[in-house]
Amino acid sequence: MSSFARPLRLLLLGAPGSGKGTQTSKLLKKYSDVLAISSGDLLRQEIARKSTLGQLSSKYIAEGKLIPDEHITKLISNYLAAELTPTSSYLLDGFPRTINQGRTLHESLKQGPNLNLVVELDVDQNVILDRIEKRWVHTGSGRVYNLDYNPPKVPFTDDVTGEPLSKRVDDTREVFSKRLESYNAELGPLKDFYNDLGILETISGDSSDIIFPKLAKFIEDNYVS
Ligand code: AMP
Repeated sequence: MSSFARPLRLLLLGAPGSGKGTQTSKLLKKYSDVLAISSGDLLRQEIARKSTLGQLSSKYIAEGKLIPDEHITKLISNYLAAELTPTSSYLLDGFPRTINQGRTLHESLKQGPNLNLVVELDVDQNVILDRIEKRWVHTGSGRVYNLDYNPPKVPFTDDVTGEPLSKRVDDTREVFSKRLESYNAELGPLKDFYNDLGILETISGDSSDIIFPKLAKFIEDNYVS
């Protein structure tokens, strides 16, 4: 198990379905002292417990639209304020997703454990559309399976709990196309913002097995003693 010479504070940017969740699981296996924070998972937990935010969010999610910045920013900021310490290593997946969110997060962490690496996972979007139809998830844990690359041991059943897997409501081809569109619209300004801060890296590849070794090497070279 590796540990860091300096904290890793990583944002994974990538289209929905580009494998951010898979890269996160692989990183957590290698670096157990990283706190992983997925805005989509936090929202799905809010929906499962039928909170006010959950009720508001479910409509947006089902239509493939982004939750308004003020709501998602509040959810994540509260979470970070409760969980982060000045020396934390963490990994953000799914937030920030708009330039407004990026600026707000940057301001709120300016004096503290701010992001020090943003990695864009650059995956061909035709590959993604094909892959998303084969994605199944375990809602309770957020574990993700792919019927081709990473199938569960028992069909449609979570390996750890034995509970049934389900499709995400927003993984239909139609809703998914909308999610890709909004990602593409927001990506440019967000990338420019992090590029100007000098912390943006892009890693290309069409499968997580191609991307992960490149990501792991970058982290080893820059964050591990
Ligand atoms: P994800 O699991 O990251 O693909 O997120 C699923 C859905 O949750 C998205 O399609 C959005 O509707 C919503 N969502 C997640 N993160 C954000 C965010 N940072 N800003 C707005 N909406 C979000």
